[in-house]
Amino acid sequence: MKLVTFREKNPNENRLSLFPPAIKKLTGMGVEVLIPQDYGLHLEMNDSVFQEAGAKTYADEVEASGVSDFSVRVRAPGIEDIKLLKKGSIHASFMDPFTNPAVLDDFNTCGISSVSFEMIPRTTLAQKMDFLSSQANLAGYVAVIKAAESLNKIFPMMMTAAGTVTPVKVFIIGAGVAGLQAIATAKRLGAKVEAFDTRPVVEEQVQSLGAKFVKLDLGDTGQTDGGYAKELTKEQMEMQQEMMAKCCEQSDVVITTAQLFGRPAPRIVTGEMVNRMNPGSIIIDLAAETGGNVEGAVAGEKNIINGVTVIGAKNFPGHVAHVASQLFGNNVLNFVESYFDKEKKKFNLNLEDEIIQGCLMTHKGQTVNEMYLNITGNK
Ligand code: NAD
Repeated sequence: MKLVTFREKNPNENRLSLFPPAIKKLTGMGVEVLIPQDYGLHLEMNDSVFQEAGAKTYADEVEASGVSDFSVRVRAPGIEDIKLLKKGSIHASFMDPFTNPAVLDDFNTCGISSVSFEMIPRTTLAQKMDFLSSQANLAGYVAVIKAAESLNKIFPMMMTAAGTVTPVKVFIIGAGVAGLQAIATAKRLGAKVEAFDTRPVVEEQVQSLGAKFVKLDLGDTGQTDGGYAKELTKEQMEMQQEMMAKCCEQSDVVITTAQLFGRPAPRIVTGEMVNRMNPGSIIIDLAAETGGNVEGAVAGEKNIINGVTVIGAKNFPGHVAHVASQLFGNNVLNFVESYFDKEKKKFNLNLEDEIIQGCLMTHKGQTVNEMYLNITGNK
């Protein structure tokens, strides 16, 4: 089996989908790994690092696309690149199918079986190939580091001869993978941390990291069967906002991470709430790329609103691209290895398998993903 990767076309994407340790394991399994020339140069990694792991370097993208059985990228390719892929081959990447449904038509037109990494079920069995978790974890870390860098205060308490400095207060909204890592990082830096989530099940996880869980009785909230948050009603959102406003007012740093699977992120921090915060405070909106939790947050921008710095996250895992690529590569390896037929030396696209059913988007010219078809009402 030939497995190819490409240079990412999106100028904001600096992560790699394959990394030397994963390449070494793949080639050891008998997979021929093809990488473009100068693949990791922007991360100070020469071709030799990838070649030593067993990869072959190619110069001709058209040829490499046409001969490969499996292609992998961080982000989905455009139609021009999809057209180059071998008919009947498999493609896998973050496809963002809910905001980019046209990509499914492109894969169908070209007869490519496509896998969307963000659709891999969040089950224990699939943990080692959970791309969302590996990247969200890093986003949570980067959010805190960025906040610490932008804040004109220090996170820990310091008792010095010149006086005592109190720890900063950090409020984290949404305690999923990114939020929990943000809590852990802020705690390690010495901040006083509070967190809120609509899923009551995370209270214990928040407390186990040494943070306070802010409680609010919103009535029935809960989570979907897949473990994702349910959307709140209008009344529940209003109740939540009043409590959020009070917590934000008392915080030096607010980090929002709230997401809803398959839909735009909920708007939680309004302009009025931002205005009520102390000048000099920092807000980091980790959901800025998916609609934004904070009014006025723009992905990739730092805006000062009434003295409050509002930072909209844009590819935060890319700020630590070396580690992000290492973990991404391991996720790719674990995915491929789980379905690799060692005798035939090829990927076995087992349509009966639960994980494959969860993440396979297109196959034999048809959009086949049940969850996608249900959520988008195409079924
Ligand atoms: P996510 O990125 O979809 O959302 C982030 C957090 O925002 C969630 O905790 C969600 O409850 C919260 N949120 C949504 N609306 C909110 C609102 N209005 N106010 C406050 N918070 C709000 O979440 P995620 O980190 O991708 O995790 C999704 C689910 O997957 C979770 O249940 C998580 O435990 C589960 N998960 C399971 C595994 C596993 O078992 N292998 C691995 C990772 C994640």
